[in-house]
Amino acid sequence: VFQLSVPLNFLGSVYRELRQSLLDMETLFNLQKVHVAIKEAPDAPRLRMPQGGVIKFENVTFGYTAERMILKNLTLTIPAGQKIAIVGPSGSGKSTLLRLLFRFYDVQSGRITIDSQDITGVALDSLRRSIGVVPQDTPLFNASLRENLKYGNLEASEEMVQRAAERARVKEVVDRLPEGWDTQVGERGMMISGGEKQRLAVARLLLKDPPLLFFDEATSALDTHTESSLLANINSILKEKKRTSVFVAHRLRTIYDADLIIVLSEGRVAEQGTHEELMRFGGIYEGLWRAQEMSFMDKGPVDERTL
Ligand code: ATP
Repeated sequence: VFQLSVPLNFLGSVYRELRQSLLDMETLFNLQKVHVAIKEAPDAPRLRMPQGGVIKFENVTFGYTAERMILKNLTLTIPAGQKIAIVGPSGSGKSTLLRLLFRFYDVQSGRITIDSQDITGVALDSLRRSIGVVPQDTPLFNASLRENLKYGNLEASEEMVQRAAERARVKEVVDRLPEGWDTQVGERGMMISGGEKQRLAVARLLLKDPPLLFFDEATSALDTHTESSLLANINSILKEKKRTSVFVAHRLRTIYDADLIIVLSEGRVAEQGTHEELMRFGGIYEGLWRAQEMSFMDKGPVDERTL
């Protein structure tokens, strides 16, 4: 028994590592749909973040097919330790930026760097481990609620799980479920609403605690009240830890407080600045903001608004 336990433990940790990187991929994309031919040098160095995670897209051109370019000579900088928002019409390439950063595809030309290291030159697992995402749609595994949350960090202590659950407002979900933390969820288990899944995804991310955090429409299924309380919690964590974070959002009310708002349009940066600057500029952002405010006012009392 003693002799066996060493290789089993070893296998266990390999399994955990595998599980962790699979989770990240599964959550960002539907794995089956992605067939990619990216290459990694066998001796690629690990990604380091001496400057806290400055992300740069330099003259990046990219298309899923050769006929149609989605990003066209795009240049942008995401400063370290700040809250950045990326907004823009549907199809403008916001989620594509995230996929390139995770290196699910390589750019056609230009380069993407993190703290001056070209991401095509670093070990893939070190890159993906540095980035955490709350995707548009979070898959649940056929397992208990606790196990689903712990996929964020398989080594997390019970105390860490409870704390993440509290901050991500998962506690209300636990209270609602018949067997609490032990309730089986996923396709073969209890149904969980879209908003509840999003809170679970945020809790997972908090447990993973990566240096770079991405939220892709991460709170879109929540009612306004829960959304603002969750965002306030996320904001205070980001401030406290000084993490680089990027929010892709349609609802501008969720990101108007960002340090920098980048407006994408047709694969290019059309505008960038703070909310006040973009409102004064009177371009795409200001137009979107006005349109959303109008529909917001039509929606009636505050608690019923979802915008
Ligand atoms: P939304 O706000 O609707 O999420 P987005 O700005 O995030 O949109 P992307 O998902 O980045 O947009 O998509 C940009 C363009 O790339 C779209 O026209 C989309 O149809 C196309 N696209 C996305 N994924 C693929 C793919 N795997 N193969 C081919 N085209 C794709």
